[in-house]
This record gives sequence, C-alpha cells and structure tokens, in this order.
Amino acid sequence: MAATAPESVRTGVLGVPVDVSPDVFQAALALHAGGGGQIVTLNAEMTMAARVDPELGSAIAAADLVIPDGAGVVWALGLQGYRVRRSPGIELARELLVHAASKGWRVALVGASPAVMEQLTTRLGQELPGLKFVLTAHGYQREEAWPGLEQQLVGARPDLVLVALGIPRQETWIQRLPGRRGGIWMGVGGSFDVWAGVKKRAPSWMGALQIEWLYRLIQEPSRWRRMLALPEFAWAVLRQG
Ligand code: UDP
Repeated sequence: MAATAPESVRTGVLGVPVDVSPDVFQAALALHAGGGGQIVTLNAEMTMAARVDPELGSAIAAADLVIPDGAGVVWALGLQGYRVRRSPGIELARELLVHAASKGWRVALVGASPAVMEQLTTRLGQELPGLKFVLTAHGYQREEAWPGLEQQLVGARPDLVLVALGIPRQETWIQRLPGRRGGIWMGVGGSFDVWAGVKKRAPSWMGALQIEWLYRLIQEPSRWRRMLALPEFAWAVLRQG
C-alpha cells in the first residue's frame, strides 16, 4: 500500500522554498512511494548561499521536499505563523536507514573521506545488519571517475541515496545526475563523519538552547567566515518582515 502522508504546505524563507510538514519521515516515505525525488535539508547558511548561487537556488527550487533543518529557518517560519519542529537532516537520514534495513531497500552512500567511508560501512553493517548496499563511494574521486560512478549509481536503481559532499555540491550534484529516477536522494553534509565517529554532534542541551552552531564553530574554527551568514540571515528576515 502506498504511504499516505499528512499534507505538506510549501512556503518560503527569503525567497527559498521550504515545506512545512507535520511529519517529515512520513513525507519522505510518501515521496519514495510516489516515485522518488530529492530531499533538501535547509538551514540559514544554505538559505543565504542559495540567494547568491543560482545553481544551488534552482536545485532547492526543484527539490521535491525541503525540510527545515536549523533553528534559524524554524524561527523565520514562526514569524510567518507556522509552528514547526526543527527536523535535523542527520536524524531523518538515520530514520530512513533504519527503515531501509527493515524493508530491504537498495541503499547507496556517496561522499566523505575514504577512511570515513570505510569506517562508516563497517559500523552501519554492524548496527543495521539488514542494510543492503548497492554502491558505496567516497567523495574524493578523481575527476574522470565520476561519470562512470554516476552511471553505476543510477543503474543500481537505489531506493535511498545519501550524499555527503558538502553544500552546495551535494545538492547540485543530485539535481544534475543524468538519468536519475526513483528513490530518495538526499544531501547529508557532515553526517557520515558523525556516524563514523570522527566528528561529534553538539550535546542535546546545546540543541535545546539553539546554539548548536557554537559547538560547530568550536570544533571547526575555520568555519567562522561561513557562519557570518547566520546574523546576515536574521537581519534579512527581520528587515523583510
Ligand atoms: N566532502 C567530500 N568531497 C569533497 C568535499 C567534501 O566528500 O570534495 C565531504 C567531507 O569529507 C564531509 C562532507 O563532505 O564528510 C561535508 O561536510 P561538512 O560538514 O563540511 O558539510 P556542509 O556543512 O558543507 O554541508
């Protein structure tokens, strides 16, 4: 039976589309049942990037499901009167892997360093024994290796493809994939590094205080310049409102 999801409503933050959905996991399952497509997890930094990067902007606009991942986007939606829960992409991706293992879905993982990918496939194999990989590939392939890999990936008819190539590459790469059809395709940023045990997620109390960004900044100080997008985002939203 096809999954029936409660209705999502598409709105936008600073001109970038985002879907308000009562249950993002059900919305993702409905997407799979309905022939598949791309899921984007939108945060403030990505929203700002999309405004100056037309390729990223059109990848998000063409995505089938855009979920609010990030306190900033949730706050901006709140100003529009939408009461939404933050849906961290890493959590949705994990739920989808668990579902994939129980349903015998064909799963592919693309991205992260060779060492992380090796550790990740070993760990996931232990944690979710039913998981069936049709393709795993790290994200630092030689330029000439990508077309063959892409062909192999599409030909494997995956049900779920998680892509950790960083923003904006993971979004634009999925969008442009020749022959892509069926299955859920989702960019997951640093999730593979976290699942492989190489990076840590912020403790939940920081999540509750909505300062996960601070934890990230302390772990990776080189991100400070990227993080200037956060106050810029807040300012742009307030000015617009
Ligand atoms: N990455 C990759 N190939 C590249 C650049 C990055 O596979 O050419 C991986 C990187 O190893 C990491 C992920 O992409 O696992 C991006 O992580 P980051 O936390 O920077 O994500 P972002 O915040 O950009 O989404």
